Amino acid sequence: MGSTLPIALPALQTNPKFIFFTDFDGTITQQDSNDFMTDNLGFGTALRKKGNEDVLYGRRDFRGSFQEMLDSVTTPFDECIDLLCKNITLDPGFKAFFEWARENNVPIVVLSGGMTPVIRALLAHMLGQEAADTLQIVSNDVAPRDGKSINEVGGWQVVFHDDSGFGHDKSLEIRPYASLEERPVLFYAGDGVSDLSAAKETDLLFAKAGRDLVTYCEKENVPFTTFENFSDIHETIKDIVAGKLSVKAAATGRK
Ligand SMILES: [Mg+2]
Repeated sequence: MGSTLPIALPALQTNPKFIFFTDFDGTITQQDSNDFMTDNLGFGTALRKKGNEDVLYGRRDFRGSFQEMLDSVTTPFDECIDLLCKNITLDPGFKAFFEWARENNVPIVVLSGGMTPVIRALLAHMLGQEAADTLQIVSNDVAPRDGKSINEVGGWQVVFHDDSGFGHDKSLEIRPYASLEERPVLFYAGDGVSDLSAAKETDLLFAKAGRDLVTYCEKENVPFTTFENFSDIHETIKDIVAGKLSVKAAATGRK
């Protein structure tokens, strides 16, 4: 620890006993920003849902499906951000959890299959610039297309974080923490197909009630508990941190 801390594990900097990894879209927010863009500016809901289902049932990988969704959106990037800021809302319990986590040395690491510039813009809009600057975010990026500017029609594209079939393989981020000999308790919260790679890596998984991740956990026998919003997560983690509840006892499955 301390000076020997590997730079690849930034969430260990404060010597935490617990680390909270989380998805962004549909988890910290109430709507998925990529789905919103695809449904309203791109090829529409029907094709998007078909793509998600194909990924969930293993008929294709997330990367290809996600790339197709975003390629169908040609709206300039700055206009996309404006539209998202007007339509995407924060989970009603997230702000209180975010503040509690900061006071109690529980680092929050956002692992997203979406795009970092979208996440930072939405966090700044919903939670303030300071939160947007301080939260650790590992996600895909955005780049200009064929000599265009990202703020032109057809001017931007997603740039994936890694070469995996997920585009961003969330398990790669969690595993270095999970394999430490003495390590913090690891939590993960998510809702959908972008979370499949992370689902088996942590000590306790929170899956959003009624969403695709619940189906997947049941299909794959991954222990989990469900949440309606961040107040549920907050209550459970507070009890675990206080020593009143074990992570095993908290993994109650579908309620
Ligand atoms: Mg999500």
